[in-house]
Parts: sequence; structure tokens; C-alpha cells
Amino acid sequence: MSRFHLTGVVRCAYCKNFNMTKTGTFPDIRERSRAAFLGVAVGDALGAGLEFMTPGEIRSKHGTVREIIGGGWLRLKPGQITDDTEMSLCIARAIDKAGGWSLQEIAESFAGWLKTKPIDVGDTCRRGIRNYLLKGVLETPYNQWDAGNGACMRMLPAAIHSLGSDDLLEKYAREQARLTHNHPLSDAACIALGRLVHLAVMGCSKTRLRREVENLLSRHENFRFEPYRGLASAYVVDTMQTVFHFFFKTRDFEQCLVATVNQGGDADTTGAIAGMLAGAYYGMEGIPKRWLKKMDKRLLTEIDALTDRLVSLSPLMAETTGLAR
Ligand SMILES: [Mg+2]
Repeated sequence: MSRFHLTGVVRCAYCKNFNMTKTGTFPDIRERSRAAFLGVAVGDALGAGLEFMTPGEIRSKHGTVREIIGGGWLRLKPGQITDDTEMSLCIARAIDKAGGWSLQEIAESFAGWLKTKPIDVGDTCRRGIRNYLLKGVLETPYNQWDAGNGACMRMLPAAIHSLGSDDLLEKYAREQARLTHNHPLSDAACIALGRLVHLAVMGCSKTRLRREVENLLSRHENFRFEPYRGLASAYVVDTMQTVFHFFFKTRDFEQCLVATVNQGGDADTTGAIAGMLAGAYYGMEGIPKRWLKKMDKRLLTEIDALTDRLVSLSPLMAETTGLAR
């Protein structure tokens, strides 16, 4: 029997809960991981046309946006993705190529991507990648202006690759983030988001996910999202408040993403992060087929293959196949 078809009871690394026969099986974990990565791409494509608009501007121009329409300041084709998905792919391809975590390989992958003159690159990301290219720097120095969402938006591969180990999650989250962003709020958001993805992929409830957010709030009050202030800028605090607010307020993938991107601002990144979390939580069934149809088929195929590889290389898979022996 291929390990892709194994089913079994899996212990949640956070709940320490063995009672996950209904949800925590290998196919479920693979499927949710895949939905999380596709969620990044779909959320990016859905939000990209609305970037930098206010909710009022979106309403008067489009009503409520429920379809992937492209356009926006980047004049995107419907289904076209931006840096959020592209940088996530860079990390996933680097892990695939190295057969495991290699910060050097990830930096090389970012550098190769920057040389292709991408349609959109955040200033902080560009500066970090240039520092690597010029000086070989793998950790950018602390900078008070580095609290943007550029490290958080590409967290998914690090989260999937560290499934089963909170220690590795922290290490990977921080390392990948600091290639370009070095700020405690960016680090905290990356680690918290990674933990939420772990919990959602393992089949934990929203109540459990909410508790994880409370852990973040107890250390960093800034991320408190109730009452919601309605800010969806690229400041990682605004971004995460928006994602938390709409993820916990809505009841399915589509509602969550529609509400998030119609908030405007950095809509491709809030969309990508909301898509990551909602994809991990609701699984493939939640992602509207009409949205997937708008996406490039080669992209979807590559995301499937890379996600499978990331799950296979994770400690969870090593641990569980070890247990099965
Ligand atoms: Mg973008």
C-alpha cells in the first residue's frame, strides 16, 4: 500500500490529542495541505485586482467582488497570481530541490525569481534579496520598518514542511522571514500563522485555533482584532487583524475570502493568507470550483506536486511511518 493511501490515527502536535480518527488521517492531512497552498493562489488572484482600493471604492466600482476578475493597478489577467504565490513557490521548489530545508537554496530561489523581473515585488523583499545577491546575507539586520506582511504571506511551505514539529516550525518561520524581514511582529505573525495552519491541517476546531490566536495576543497585544478596526494595509498587524476577523466571523472558504478581499487595502496578501488558513481548515471541498477553473492548470498541478513533497518530507510523516513500522 502506498503511504499516500495510508489512513490512521495521528497525534496532534499541539492538542496532544490522539482522538482524531475522523479528521486526522493521512489523506485528510495531504488534502488540507493542498487546499491551503491552493488557497494562497486563489486568494492572491481574487484579491490582486482590488489592491490599494478602499471598501467604498470597491463597492462603487464592482458591488461585492465574488469572482476572480483580474485587473487592478497591475492590470492582471483573471487568475494571474502575484508575489505572494510566487515567493511561496520559490520556497517550496527550494525544499523540493534540496530534499529538505536549505535557507541558502531558498535565498537562491528568491534571487532567481527577482531576476525574472516579477510583476510585483515588495520593497522590503527586494532589499533583502538584493542584500543576499550582493553580500550573501541570509539574515537581514533588525529594521523598525520591517513589520510588513511580506514574510507572512509566504509562510505556507515552511508550515507544511514542519508538520509534526513546533520547534522546526519556529526555526523555519523565523529563518525564511529574516531573509527579507527582521522585526518581532513579523516573526510573531509568521510563527502564529504557521501554528494555525498546523492545527487546521490536523483537523482541530475553530475553538482550538482561536485559543492559539489568544496565545499570540497575550504576547503581542497589537494583533487584537476585536473590535475590528477595518484596516487591511501591508502592516502585518493590520493584515493579520483582517484575516483573523474574517476567518472567525465567516463559516466557509468562499465567504471568508470574499469578505477579506472586499476590505481592499493589501487585498492580494490578505486574500492569500486568508486562503491559506481557510484552505487548511475547510479543505478542498471548500474552494469554489469556478475559482479553480480560472487558475492556470500548470500552476495547480505544480502546487499539488510540491505540497505532496512537502508533506512527505515533514517530521509528521517520518514520525508516523516510523510508528507504523
Ligand atoms: Mg502580491
